Amino acid sequence: MLPYHTLQEAEISLGRNLTFGEKLWFEYSARKSDYILYCHNTIFLFIFYTLFPITFVILELLRSKKIDKYKIQPKIKNSFYDMMKCYKKVLLTFVYAVGPLQILSYPIIEWVGIRTSLPLPSGTEIFWQLLVYFVVEDYANYWLHRLMHSKWGYEKIHRVHHEYTAPIGFAAPYAHWAEIIVLGFASFLGPLMVPGHMVTFWLWFIIRQLEAIETHSGYEFPWSPSKFIPFYGGAVHHDYHHYVGGKSQSNFASVFTYCDYIYGTDKGYRYQKNVFEKTRENLRSQTELKSE
Ligand SMILES: [Zn+2]
Ligand SMILES: [Zn+2]
Repeated sequence: MLPYHTLQEAEISLGRNLTFGEKLWFEYSARKSDYILYCHNTIFLFIFYTLFPITFVILELLRSKKIDKYKIQPKIKNSFYDMMKCYKKVLLTFVYAVGPLQILSYPIIEWVGIRTSLPLPSGTEIFWQLLVYFVVEDYANYWLHRLMHSKWGYEKIHRVHHEYTAPIGFAAPYAHWAEIIVLGFASFLGPLMVPGHMVTFWLWFIIRQLEAIETHSGYEFPWSPSKFIPFYGGAVHHDYHHYVGGKSQSNFASVFTYCDYIYGTDKGYRYQKNVFEKTRENLRSQTELKSE
């Protein structure tokens, strides 16, 4: 809850006029407790998890040769029923794993000092903090995921996430409850190390979830903005991990490619990618020759 009763009080305290964003934040958050603001995160996760994959559901239902060009495993088709089944199962994990994890973690968030006060963070501050969160989580996730591929970890926990050998958007958080908690812990590491504003905290979870959905979408588009992010893995990178399945010792990283490169767990993927790209080039040149 903000320590000001009016906008004027806030402006006097900051010694300047509030920006448009800060006025909005004041109007929205002044009478809400920090706990209620923190709980918004679970609601945002639910809303974005429900809405963002709809694009991929529509593509899957409209499948044609034009769409298949962008499908990573074009032989696989998912029915509406299959996709909804996945959605419903994930919603259950929201109730007994994601929600409780978010709500019970509040004392830690309060302790490290994730603030809800004014001023709002600048765009630059948000950018650098998010970058740190991504890098820290990616590194922790790499090793936790690799551990999940041990015999015990895979059979008891991670097998559930690998039920999809050709992932779909809704399957991004489809996992055993224990995996949600373990990997969820990795998502908290960045904000714990570099605590910022609640808005940054919300943004981190929203962007990370959108990224996970895109990575699991089963589609790769040449115009995707993520193509311009250095060392970004993307859908093809993670799809390969699912395609190989339980025996996979490749592509453990969730966001970037550098961990797999440094620790040598992308050799199989790079070989297969080269073979795949050469085959596509050959096919393309054959088609061009025929049309001449
Ligand atoms: Zn895995
Ligand atoms: Zn996955």
